[in-house]
Amino acid sequence: MIIGEWKPVAELVETLRGRKKVLVAGCATCVAECAAGGEREVETLAPLLRMGLKKKGHDVEIVTHTIERQCEWEFVEELEKVLGGVDAVLSLACGIGVQAVAERFQDVPIYPGVNTTALAIREEPGLWTARCAACGDCVLGETFGLCPIARCAKSLLNGPCGGTHEGGKCEVNHDNDCVWCLIYERAKARGAVDSLIEVKRSKGWSSSSHGGQKRMLREDLRS
Ligand code: SF4
Ligand code: SF4
Repeated sequence: MIIGEWKPVAELVETLRGRKKVLVAGCATCVAECAAGGEREVETLAPLLRMGLKKKGHDVEIVTHTIERQCEWEFVEELEKVLGGVDAVLSLACGIGVQAVAERFQDVPIYPGVNTTALAIREEPGLWTARCAACGDCVLGETFGLCPIARCAKSLLNGPCGGTHEGGKCEVNHDNDCVWCLIYERAKARGAVDSLIEVKRSKGWSSSSHGGQKRMLREDLRS
């Protein structure tokens, strides 16, 4: 899922000062799963903003609405019915949702309420870790199902950097396992350590983010 977390409330208050009527818009999919932008978070944030703005001398009307997904046009359309008189929208969706809403309703200023951080998995309650950086040329088949792009601080493809900390922790952040230790252990358990020293194909980076906006075109789905 895509994960993110609230921007600081003080920052949001600053962003919204001077507005008369604000829509706080939630998204009931990824950001709801990571407790950043679902209905519950929308209803929690709205009074905090109201209070924060009031303290700064701004009386603002805040309305709330959560839709199924802010990244799909058919759901985004639903926001039209709650936009009457609104002079700013604070979207608690990921960056994709914010952009979809901004594109559909171009007359109203749209602000992000969430910082989108990663494509991640929920490891345990309250802990999410990044698992994919959407590099566009997946190497998981060569790395025993562990992503060195998203999980190694240096995105190394040919083994550990040499600085791995005691206990198999990453030298950059000791909270994280060194993914290359995990890859080695998994290879060892499978009796396939030798495969790690084979010369691999060069990874293609043309489909990563360096080539500008990515596109996926499926002619078979366009008619
Ligand atoms: S190799 Fe690329 S596509 Fe595969 S999991 Fe890692 S970042 Fe994602
Ligand atoms: S310690 Fe491991 S995960 Fe951390 S940067 Fe080095 S190789 Fe990557």
